[in-house]
Amino acid sequence: MILAPGRGVLAQPSPPPPTVEPLIEVRVAGDSLKRVLSVDVAWPSGLKPRFPRDEASTLSGRSVAPVGASKSGFVPIDQNPDWASACEREGCRLAYSVDVARGIATDRRGDWGFEEKQRIVMAPLVRWLVRPEDRRARGRLRVDFDGGKNFELVSGVMDGRVNHIETDLVVMDGPHVVLGDFTHRAIDLPGGRIDVALGRGERGVRDEDLLTWIREGAQDVVSLLGRFPVSRLQVIVASGGPYAVGSAVTMGMGGASIFVVVGERTRKADLLRDWVMTHEMLHVAFPNMGFRQRWMEEGLSTYLEPLLRARRGRYEPQKMWAEFVRAMPQGLPKDGDQGLDRTFTWGRRYWGGAMFWLHVDLEIRRRTEGARSLDDVLRGVLGAGGNVALRWDVARLAGVAENASGTTALREIYDDWSEKAVAPDLGALWTSLGVRADKAERITFDDQAPLARIRRGLTHKGGSLAVASSGGPS
Ligand SMILES: [Zn+2]
Repeated sequence: MILAPGRGVLAQPSPPPPTVEPLIEVRVAGDSLKRVLSVDVAWPSGLKPRFPRDEASTLSGRSVAPVGASKSGFVPIDQNPDWASACEREGCRLAYSVDVARGIATDRRGDWGFEEKQRIVMAPLVRWLVRPEDRRARGRLRVDFDGGKNFELVSGVMDGRVNHIETDLVVMDGPHVVLGDFTHRAIDLPGGRIDVALGRGERGVRDEDLLTWIREGAQDVVSLLGRFPVSRLQVIVASGGPYAVGSAVTMGMGGASIFVVVGERTRKADLLRDWVMTHEMLHVAFPNMGFRQRWMEEGLSTYLEPLLRARRGRYEPQKMWAEFVRAMPQGLPKDGDQGLDRTFTWGRRYWGGAMFWLHVDLEIRRRTEGARSLDDVLRGVLGAGGNVALRWDVARLAGVAENASGTTALREIYDDWSEKAVAPDLGALWTSLGVRADKAERITFDDQAPLARIRRGLTHKGGSLAVASSGGPS
């Protein structure tokens, strides 16, 4: 140890940062009939609190009290302009109520607000929970919810239990948080567990059929990776509405969760044919890439979903190629479009992204003479700890891809396609793969085509016809 010379106190090294991170403890009482939440927060010192933006005035009765105060010690925060700084200095208690029904009626759809979908209430924490003013602040969050028998809180945080959240603060804009009345089931898979919360709405299929559907989608991804990509996934199924499988959204960052709507007239056969669950499960296996590279996330799911189903005999390769031939041109740049990092249309995001991953996959297979593929890249992502609960950037992904595939294909194609409006000749590509479509979009294969072997490898059971896979991740 080196003693600083001279003047004692001033020369002391600064104290080490506290090893215990501040903990925000929240108790929420939910009233299912009035749809009102009563929120009671034990706020720690060291963080400055801030209430969410609330244009619809759903939050009311905001009041503050010193730590350890009784009920009568609370005063409205408008009577104490210094309340937030006082909480930061000494810690405090905060209490308020949330009118969820009002939020549902007034919040804009798809805008991190309250929203009701088939009797399940989307209730993102960022909409209603007091949070640190500094969005990058470190700390822990614990939420306990009590809504009685028929009103539960379900979330996708990694260690989530029903009515309980315990995690770091990233979860505030993280996985789904919903309120409702559920039946709970679980699916065990190699490497992880899926908790399934089934909403109470009308549906045309039995619970067992829904579980089989979810398990098959998960197995598509397990067949690629060797195990399930996260230790815990929360799937929330809402029931009702006209669509066999309606809107589905996967959210991560601090956990993994899928919200999906199944229609009231959905049949078992619809679920057997369905592609949505596999698409969402692929999202679970891939890190958050941020807004500019969302096309990488959507493109990967769009490209790999039919491949994985075809490999497991759940989809015919002819149908898959017919779909690619018909739909992939939607990913080509239109007049005025820029690179994939700069043009945010549906076609560029989903099919432009799929076209990117197809080219990366083909290029890896070509350069390695079929020994490596995009499959290896995804196993590499899993091996490096990547999944939807975390954010990665392109540099990290490209590094993992290079290690896993032994090529720089991903980096090179990304550099090109992200910046510029690249328009590959898809007709020539189908021909070289030996994919022929007649006018009725019936597909025949030409096994003499130069890339025919690679084409067969894409939908082959092991994902490759060449060397045996080096196995799953360690
Ligand atoms: Zn998607």
